[in-house]
Amino acid sequence: MLRRACILSFLGALAIAQAASPAASRIDRRFAEARKNPLELYAFLYRMPKGADLHNHLSGAIYAEDYLAAAVQTHLCVDTAALALVEATAPGGACAPGQVDAAATQTDNTLRNGLIDSFSMRNFVPGKQSGHDHFFDTFDKFGAVSSGDLIAGVVQRAADQNESYLELMALSGGSIAGLGKTVGLTDDFDATRRKLEAAGLDRLVAQMKTRVDRMEQKRLSGLGCARTPDSAACRVQVRYVYQVLREFPKEQVFAQVMAGFELAAADPRVVAVNFVQAEDGYISMHDYHLQMTMVDYAHKIWPNVHITLHAGELAPGLVPPDGLRFHIGEAIDLGHAERIGHGVDVMYEKDPATLLAEMRERHILVEINLTSNDVILGVKGDQHPFPIYRRNGVPLALSTDDEGVSRSQLTEEFERAVLTYNLSYSDLKELVRNSLEYSFAPGASYWKDRKYFSVAAPCAAGAKTSACREYLDNNDKARLEADLEDRFAQFEK
Ligand SMILES: [Zn+2]
Repeated sequence: MLRRACILSFLGALAIAQAASPAASRIDRRFAEARKNPLELYAFLYRMPKGADLHNHLSGAIYAEDYLAAAVQTHLCVDTAALALVEATAPGGACAPGQVDAAATQTDNTLRNGLIDSFSMRNFVPGKQSGHDHFFDTFDKFGAVSSGDLIAGVVQRAADQNESYLELMALSGGSIAGLGKTVGLTDDFDATRRKLEAAGLDRLVAQMKTRVDRMEQKRLSGLGCARTPDSAACRVQVRYVYQVLREFPKEQVFAQVMAGFELAAADPRVVAVNFVQAEDGYISMHDYHLQMTMVDYAHKIWPNVHITLHAGELAPGLVPPDGLRFHIGEAIDLGHAERIGHGVDVMYEKDPATLLAEMRERHILVEINLTSNDVILGVKGDQHPFPIYRRNGVPLALSTDDEGVSRSQLTEEFERAVLTYNLSYSDLKELVRNSLEYSFAPGASYWKDRKYFSVAAPCAAGAKTSACREYLDNNDKARLEADLEDRFAQFEK
């Protein structure tokens, strides 16, 4: 009986594949034609459905021009030596000596260009300062503007490129870190957690929910979703990922981990916890193992909170060889990471073959950020493990990391992947489907399995059946994935 069912399901799958073949070959021909020229390829990829951007730091996604416009509106000043935005601190709300009103950026193009270069990798030439340092330094320079207020532009850009879902990293918390500083940390995580609760952790978590409310209001009002709820931008689903600042002292990291997990457990808009900041920084390196034990502890309390971790955003020379040996493995085994951000140094890990096999078997997706890895780590082409992950069957998705700082967008990540790694159209489709399948959107998948060959049982008789409609109504992820297939059908016509 089982064998018969297998044969029937194989025949059914074959029928789908054959039915799809004329359209498939047409789009393959179009893609083959487009890839002969990078500009044609760009235009093709810009329109292509891209599913999700799973690795996107909100503050780094905003372009310098948008920060400057916001600085003018909110009457910030420019520190002309540091080329950074600062609050007005002189009496009467005026700019202090050495500073000018941000409005000057609308008349003085030299100042404006200097600031745009300062906020991004535009025109960056490594010299005294490395790409890595310039990149990470940008965040302090535009940090005076609240990035949450500029979320609409990020979502609009995603919609323009035919993306349908974003997981935005945001909400890293100064006040939470402050609470951790007050409370301290001992080896007794339970006792420390109780102290954090007694000192007001819940209140600070509630404040973060209010920050999510505000971002959501800014997103909806900025995109005019009350008037046009069905616009492409309003249909982009947005979820948030709490960022733990890993370069903070351990007691402050612990408080952030507790807050992040508590928030993600309580607020469905916040779907996961991640660790951010330079992985090669002193504390990141020194406390890496300890930080993973904190995640392990939090995972035991809140097992349903999703975890994705920046791990292996490192390269030889940036850190000593022994610093490259265990971060990805520990992020998975101790940090319970369901996804890995970057994973660039995987071949320098202790036992890369076993690790790659583990990632394949446990379906640990790697969020690949090609532009970012090039400009921060100087890793690209054959030095990047992208083809190795693919050969080893580790699921991948392309993402932007910090598109504003990198002056790129998701389309360019696909362009880079196609041109560097000779990808076919079906390779691209797999990357795109992965981005939704491995997203933390709630609910079950539209697909029977991750081969993307057959759909889940309720939709096997067609997407228009009542069983399928009910299934899609109850499963956000499946709905996003079914919508992606519609977008592909539309695009491939
Ligand atoms: Zn990142």
